[in-house]
Amino acid sequence: MSNSKSPTFDPKMAPRFSEIATFMRCPLAESPEDVDIAMIGIPYDGGVTNRPGARHGPREIRNSSSLIRKYHHVTRLSPFDMARVCDMGDVRFSSMFDPAVVVEEIEAFMKMVVDTGAIPLSAGGDHSITYPILKVLGQAKPVGLIHIDAHTDTWGPFQGCKFHHGAPFRLAVEDGVLDPKRTVQIGIRGSQGITDGWDFSEQSGMRVIFMEEFTRMGVDAVIAEARRVVGDGPTYVSFDVDGLDPVYAPGTGTPEIGGITTIEAQALLRGLSGLNLVGGDVVEVSPPFDQTGNTALVGATLMFEILCLLAECIGQR
Ligand code: MN
Ligand code: MN
Repeated sequence: MSNSKSPTFDPKMAPRFSEIATFMRCPLAESPEDVDIAMIGIPYDGGVTNRPGARHGPREIRNSSSLIRKYHHVTRLSPFDMARVCDMGDVRFSSMFDPAVVVEEIEAFMKMVVDTGAIPLSAGGDHSITYPILKVLGQAKPVGLIHIDAHTDTWGPFQGCKFHHGAPFRLAVEDGVLDPKRTVQIGIRGSQGITDGWDFSEQSGMRVIFMEEFTRMGVDAVIAEARRVVGDGPTYVSFDVDGLDPVYAPGTGTPEIGGITTIEAQALLRGLSGLNLVGGDVVEVSPPFDQTGNTALVGATLMFEILCLLAECIGQR
C-alpha cells in the first residue's frame, strides 16, 4: 500500500486537492538553509488606506496555488527542477498593531533568508510589506525596481503615519535602498486627493508609465522600456494586483478601472527574462472582496511567472 510519508512521495504529482496547501505544493522549510528560492507569506494589512482584507492573501494564494503544475507552457521549463524552491511559511508578528515593529520584524525575517543566499518571493499582505524587503535587498547597494500597480506608492505620511501601503517606494528612496533612476512604475492611473506621490516619483527620476501610455505603447515596447530603465543591475519585481483591471482582480483594497489585462501582465513578466532579479512579490490580494476566488488564482499564477524568472537567475549563478 502506498504511504504519503514514503520517501518517493512527490507532492507535485499528487492530486492537487490533496495534502496541506503550501505555495505551489512545495515543501515547507523551517530554515532557508539549502533553499534557492524562498516563498514567504506576509499576512499583514495594517497599512491599508481603504478596504482591508489583504492579511488573508497568503492563505488564499496558497490554496489557489495548488492548481499550479510543474512546467511553464511557453518555456517548457520547470522552476522546481531549476532551483530548490520552498515555502518558508509566514512572517510571524509579535506586535501587529504597531507598524514600526511590523517593519522591523519583516526586515529581520528577510535578512535571515537573504543572508543564506536564498531569493525571496513573497505574497502579501498590503503593499507596505515591500519597504522592509527593499531595506534588506538594497542595503549594500540600492536596487532597481519594476513595479506594476495603479498607484505609485510614493506618497508621504497619512493619518500621521509614514508606514502605509501608499508609501513603500518613497521610504525606500529616502533610505537610499532603492535607486529611483532604475525604477519603472507601470499601469499608474486613478484619481488622487493630492498629486504628491506622482510628483515625488517623477521628480526623483522614476520612469512612470501611466495606463494611457501603456495602451499607446503596447506590451512589447513597455518591456523594452522597463529593461532599458533597470539595465543589468540587481532588480526587484513588485506586482500589486490592483495594477490589473478589476475585471480580472476585483478582490483588492483599492481597485481602479481601466487597467492591465491578465494576458498583458503575463507577457510583461515573461519579457523580463534574463534580467538580474533579486526578489519579487505579489501584494494586495484581499480575499474578503474576492467573491469568485479569481483574484487569488491570478495572484498565485503571477507568483508562478515571477518564480520562473527567479529560477532562471539561480540557473545563471
Ligand atoms: Mn501598491
Ligand atoms: Mn495599488
